[in-house]
Amino acid sequence: MNPPAHDVSPSRRTFVRNMTLGAAFIAGGATGGLAAELAELTKGGEKKLGVALVGLGLYSRGELGPALRQTRLCRFAGVITGSREKGVKWSRSYGFPEKNIWSYDSMHEIASNPDIDIVYVVTPNGLHAEHVVKSALAGKHVICEKPMANTVAECDQMMAACRKAGVQLSVGYRLHYDPNHIELDRLARVKDFGALTRLSGEHSWTFQQRAWRIERSLSGGGPLMDVGIYVIQAACRAAMAQPIAITARELPKTRPELFNEVEETIEWTMEFPGGVTCEASSSYNRENNLFRAEGAKGWIRLSPAYGYRGIEVETSAGPLKFPEVPQQALQMDDFTSCILTGRETPVPGSMGRDHMVIIEAIYKSAALGGRRVELPRA
Ligand code: NAD
Repeated sequence: MNPPAHDVSPSRRTFVRNMTLGAAFIAGGATGGLAAELAELTKGGEKKLGVALVGLGLYSRGELGPALRQTRLCRFAGVITGSREKGVKWSRSYGFPEKNIWSYDSMHEIASNPDIDIVYVVTPNGLHAEHVVKSALAGKHVICEKPMANTVAECDQMMAACRKAGVQLSVGYRLHYDPNHIELDRLARVKDFGALTRLSGEHSWTFQQRAWRIERSLSGGGPLMDVGIYVIQAACRAAMAQPIAITARELPKTRPELFNEVEETIEWTMEFPGGVTCEASSSYNRENNLFRAEGAKGWIRLSPAYGYRGIEVETSAGPLKFPEVPQQALQMDDFTSCILTGRETPVPGSMGRDHMVIIEAIYKSAALGGRRVELPRA
């Protein structure tokens, strides 16, 4: 992961100019195109679209609820929760009516509620398919948290249901709205450091206690499904492609009593077209959060790479500093903007499915003792 000795950096002047362009790109806290759309769409002071959150766990509580206080095109309009009491507390805190609290069993009733335009599914991975399909049947646009589902087959069902209902489906890929990752996209495209051919990354955290994340039916897998997916996303963005082959191996478990249904640590290599490779890993027994991409003329390293805040970027030409942005608010405003304008979301269900194809190949290779598994060509 260390910078190689042979780095050849672009000139400082080129680098500073690019950084300025990058900063301008996210002026106003929204990416260029989105900033213009937001300005246009908020001009007449039209009513914001209503969002209902499904599942009021940590991510909804810590990030999505608060982000809905910052969004400009959509507003918090209801919840689907297993606890009515919790729903009432949320309705008082966020100011939506108590009639807009549903249970998982009654969520089909949102169909007749005009307050709700978008349903945001934030339940355990193994429930995403059920909740997305129910939302689509109710005629609502849907954002689904990552990973999109437990399997590619479920992704197909979800996409088919949304297509049939004529609603848009997006995946909660907040890093597509983060300026540090947008800079990674830019470098991949403009090739300041040459084509980014040597990629590596890890996302790991120390998992302590029994919970749905290590129950296969609800999680679909271990750290790979939970956080390793971020390395997959970053690598596909840096390579601007889907991998063509995977080799993977699961490491021996240090706490087999806890990880008796899912992997504890997994390492994998992604081969992309044109000889681009990514060495990746994800674990529930250590702390690591980084991504690195190297071309013939330089490198970029993000560490921490995948946080809601505090992403840090080093390059062979010096450090980069971008303003913090409200990732989730931008993500939800962009999806709303897509609905209002008919533009396709940059983070569609098909992208979530692509990543599930990779994840299934990683598990398959690991199960086959590290055999190289080829992915279907797009
Ligand atoms: P959590 O455990 O904190 O919350 C899960 C919620 O689902 C809870 O409200 C729980 O009551 C509800 N639930 C409904 N049925 C359940 C069942 N059968 N078993 C367990 N819980 C059930 O989880 P979380 O961290 O909020 O994660 C929820 C989803 O959001 C996951 O898919 C996760 O991958 C995703 N997530 C995404 C990000 C991100 O940065 N995009 C961050 C965290 C979590």
